[in-house]
Amino acid sequence: MTPTLSPTEYEPLTAYDRCDRCGAQGRIRVMLSSGSDLVFCGHHAREYEVKLRDVGHIVVDETARVS
Ligand SMILES: [Zn+2]
Repeated sequence: MTPTLSPTEYEPLTAYDRCDRCGAQGRIRVMLSSGSDLVFCGHHAREYEVKLRDVGHIVVDETARVS
């Protein structure tokens, strides 16, 4: 089971959070076991999300929150 946390438990993404791959507006935040985090846009979220979940990272999907 992959732990799933509500976005409200994390600092919400803002317009200043940019995809770590392409610089587009961030849509999901990935919490790494090291305590750092990554932000991906919708495009890269779809590309990486399954892989990230597979290795046990917590993916916070804020697609519905970011206008
Ligand atoms: Zn991207």
